[in-house]
Amino acid sequence: MTTTSPSFTPDEQMTPDEYVASDGRVPSHKNADSAGRTNPTLQAEARGAVRECEDLRVTDMSRGLGIADVSVTYPAGPWGQPVHAVRNVNLTIGPGHIVALLGASGSGKSSLLRAVAGLEDVASGDVTWDGRSVVRTPVHQRGFGLMFQEGQLFAHRSVAGNVAYGLVSAGIPKVKRQAIVDEMLEMVGLPGYGNRPITTLSGGQAQRVALARALAPNPRLLLLDEPLSALDRALREQLAIDVRTIVKSGNTTAMYVTHDHDEAMTVADRVGIMDNGELIRIDTPAGLLTDPRYLEVASFMGFAPFLTPAQAHRLGLTALANRSDNQLDSFVALGQRAMTIVRAYTSLTNGEQIDNRGESDQVICGVVQQSRIHQGMRECDLTIDQFIDEKTGKPLIFQARAPIDAPVIKAGCTVDVLIDESCCANVFARNR
Ligand code: ADP
Ligand code: MG
Repeated sequence: MTTTSPSFTPDEQMTPDEYVASDGRVPSHKNADSAGRTNPTLQAEARGAVRECEDLRVTDMSRGLGIADVSVTYPAGPWGQPVHAVRNVNLTIGPGHIVALLGASGSGKSSLLRAVAGLEDVASGDVTWDGRSVVRTPVHQRGFGLMFQEGQLFAHRSVAGNVAYGLVSAGIPKVKRQAIVDEMLEMVGLPGYGNRPITTLSGGQAQRVALARALAPNPRLLLLDEPLSALDRALREQLAIDVRTIVKSGNTTAMYVTHDHDEAMTVADRVGIMDNGELIRIDTPAGLLTDPRYLEVASFMGFAPFLTPAQAHRLGLTALANRSDNQLDSFVALGQRAMTIVRAYTSLTNGEQIDNRGESDQVICGVVQQSRIHQGMRECDLTIDQFIDEKTGKPLIFQARAPIDAPVIKAGCTVDVLIDESCCANVFARNR
């Protein structure tokens, strides 16, 4: 289950020399303006990095978190070779913004988050806050709050004792601590829970306490690593919304690591996709869905299958097919909501209409391979005559949706589907 590590409010705790910029200036930390706290060398490097990452929309590199060309390398993996867990990542998170890092297991998300926290060394590159390097600042002096999936709240302390943990370390007087704890518990939806033993909390309540604990010292950056992954889906969906609301209400800057794309898109302002240690694409949730751009990103976002331009023409996806024509390794990717079943046939003479579209609609005929219920809809895997994966020679599997109260759609049943081209996208293989 999730716990918080202590987080610290930096301004009271850091000595100026922890903030020595690489140009040797020792800025006054408190109330310094952003111009007085920036490092021109790092800034220039970081701006160069932004140009390399074409879709990084950042206007002010001097504020918030800066990750400039960061690599994390573990000295020896299972076979004695160094593991390049993070490769030359560039990213900034402006004040009050939430960025999610999304990627498959082993793609380097936690390594990057841990490097930002100071729990792993950076092999190269720089991590900055307000333009100033923090790579030599100890973990507990970075002013970053942490929340992980693994680890636990202190079972021997009450809820209030857990939430107050970082405040005690920060030397906040008892009366003020109590007020902050009450305020935090109110914010995470657990007012009056202060005296409850940790052992009496449900999984979701424990996560809320963990979040309150991470936020209590008012961290300048909140780092969350799979904070909801141990919860069941329904609870995760609700808590993802709550986490966003709570973090946004405090205007806290946050980096949120998850492998669940729905969760990432619910929580974050921008979502970065990690693949094999690289940050390959970062955009708003809507930007990623309308333009995943790379096959690797689309695949991770649930697009399937990927059609050659010729196949896309045959399905009537003319605009996208035209754009893919004559481009090497360019595909048309079908989004999760691209195909809708409009009629189902248990035999070729027995058609049952599912919606009110007329016979003139441009429909495509498919055969159901399997069917399941997902999020209140019936979802089917379909094959369509002669649509073959050119690499494997096997039939392409299309995903189509129907209302839950549609006539029973079973494997072997023939269906008519409509395709919504606006739910599809042009993508290309990244390493072409
Ligand atoms: P993710 O969080 O995306 O699942 P990680 O950052 O945990 O990915 O891991 C990235 C890569 O680094 C993986 O190949 C993983 O096996 C490796 N790795 C992670 N931690 C260590 C470690 N302490 N020592 C060696 N290799 C590690
Ligand atoms: Mg991880």
